[in-house]
Amino acid sequence: MTTFQDLGVREDLLRAIAELGYVAPMPIQEKVIPHLLNEDSDVVGLAQTGTGKTAAFGLPTLQRVDTSLKATQAIILDPTRELCMQTCNDLNDYAKYVDGLRILPVYGGSSIEVQIRALRKGVQIIVATPGRLLDLIKRGEVNLENVNTVILDEADEMLNMGFVDDINNILEHVPETRKMLMFSATMPPEIANIAKNYMRNPQEYMIGARNEGSANVRHIYYMVRANDKYLALKRICDYLPRVYGIIFCRTRASAQEIATHLMEDGYDADALHGDLSQAQRDAVMKKFRERNLQLLVATDVAARGLDVDDLTHIISYSLPDDNAVYNHRSGRTGRAGKTGVSIALIHSRERNKLRDIEKHMGKQFERCEVPKPNAIIEKQLFNLADRLENVEVKEDDIAEYMPQVLKKLSWLDSEDLLKRMLSLEFNRLLEYYQDAPELDYVPEKEKAKKREKKPKYDNTRDKDCRTAEEGYERVFVNAGKADGFFAPSLIELVNRNTHGERVDLGRIDLLTNYSLFDVREGDAKRVVKALKNADFFGKRIYAEVASLDKNYASETEGTEVKLNRKERRRQQFGAKERHGDRRRGHRRERDERDERRTRRDNERGFKRGPKGGKKKK
Ligand code: AMP
Repeated sequence: MTTFQDLGVREDLLRAIAELGYVAPMPIQEKVIPHLLNEDSDVVGLAQTGTGKTAAFGLPTLQRVDTSLKATQAIILDPTRELCMQTCNDLNDYAKYVDGLRILPVYGGSSIEVQIRALRKGVQIIVATPGRLLDLIKRGEVNLENVNTVILDEADEMLNMGFVDDINNILEHVPETRKMLMFSATMPPEIANIAKNYMRNPQEYMIGARNEGSANVRHIYYMVRANDKYLALKRICDYLPRVYGIIFCRTRASAQEIATHLMEDGYDADALHGDLSQAQRDAVMKKFRERNLQLLVATDVAARGLDVDDLTHIISYSLPDDNAVYNHRSGRTGRAGKTGVSIALIHSRERNKLRDIEKHMGKQFERCEVPKPNAIIEKQLFNLADRLENVEVKEDDIAEYMPQVLKKLSWLDSEDLLKRMLSLEFNRLLEYYQDAPELDYVPEKEKAKKREKKPKYDNTRDKDCRTAEEGYERVFVNAGKADGFFAPSLIELVNRNTHGERVDLGRIDLLTNYSLFDVREGDAKRVVKALKNADFFGKRIYAEVASLDKNYASETEGTEVKLNRKERRRQQFGAKERHGDRRRGHRRERDERDERRTRRDNERGFKRGPKGGKKKK
């Protein structure tokens, strides 16, 4: 196994990173550290956050500084204040045992005077946003004559933020002898031009993670109509009660809009984008890092400064233009040995874009159905039950209030009480999701196919049918319309098999393969018992007290027999034997009647004609 020592890292730095728990170098570090320490040529690194790039450029940068000199020897450019701070903090951690080293972050939006005072004391490494550094250079407060290392971190983001001219300008001020390294997750032409114009024989290192995506990340997508995206987003969030994730939007305005809607709809969400003031951005990020916020709705640029390792989900509300940015987003989950899910919410015209991303990642997306209301309700109730189970009960504090509350609720048993507690949430969900439409986009061709496959008998009424009327209980019976089982058959079946007091039937729902019917409260068990193994034209009857939780439609699926009218009647009425018996009975009755009449005629002296008319003999 390669060690940091093998890469040429100095003893005092080794000690500090060992304390940070860095055992072995990460791939980008293995490549970049020896290059920066030993080679003359420059470096372009294609790597995203989370690959260990800060130590890759940070350790050699620190090692190249001569601490006996106070002059600035290294500049590191970062796109945002947050990244400056983060890089600076990391470098200070690595430099814990390096004496006489001063590293200073300088960025826009905070007092330039304070930064100038600090600079005047002598700073060997400056970590800066390009605009502020240029300002300080122009004021003569930063002298780049002795700079031997220039690092451009997140170069593509600096381009996105409009810093490209500033970068070019700064690079004009550094000596030609400096060594330069540029990290970027993507390589747009402007960035490629910086490399071409200012770097010497740049060696390119690409870290696998850029194209592969983390093995711990599952990539899924939902396809909905463009107008349904927000509704689908809410369903996804409802289905993930414990989500801790970032929702990525392409523009600042859309990030703000989605965040505002989510907040108004009661979600634990907030926005992070460049239109917010620095103080607002800091406050949101703090809340999110401390997990006082579940969902952060962000633009790619603004989220860069946020380093959180345990995100459960990444949701791309809109797909980025650049495929590599998708990788960058999803690489924010599934870190540190954890698993994560990266979700893309797309509309039908974005399928090709998704295929491009798949090619780029070398991984396939799974299409998932937008969570259905019953699945969401189940998840939410389970989560609530989980919270009830795990809530900390402050015995001493609550004791004072308990007697009164216990007295008020004393008439409820524990099951009732639980039902009522769950109903506080359940009723809201039920109301919200009542008549909720299907959101998955199904192309017309597939819709037609589905229609063809749709069973003739529709069992969608099942759920409503499981509820009894007031004062009644519901009974399920395994015979339905396909068995030729209709209301008279049910009444006859119940009457034939029950003894004692007559059973009063209420509402009857006849479905394809089964039926549900009401009996007066208290009668259900008696009826179920009576119908056990009863016979309905050769079909053995099974009955049970109907349960609200059972989906009888799906349980009886596959037993459906489609019968034509004649067959149904035959099943219903027992067909031939009965009709035959009856015909035979009729014939017998007619013959007997004829016999009686002939006898009577003979007695009275009448003779019948061919048409039955009577004549006196
Ligand atoms: P970065 O890509 O620089 O943001 O680093 C991602 C995370 O990996 C940070 O939390 C680093 O502290 C951590 N890290 C960097 N290098 C190593 C290493 N060699 N071993 C373990 N963790 C590391």
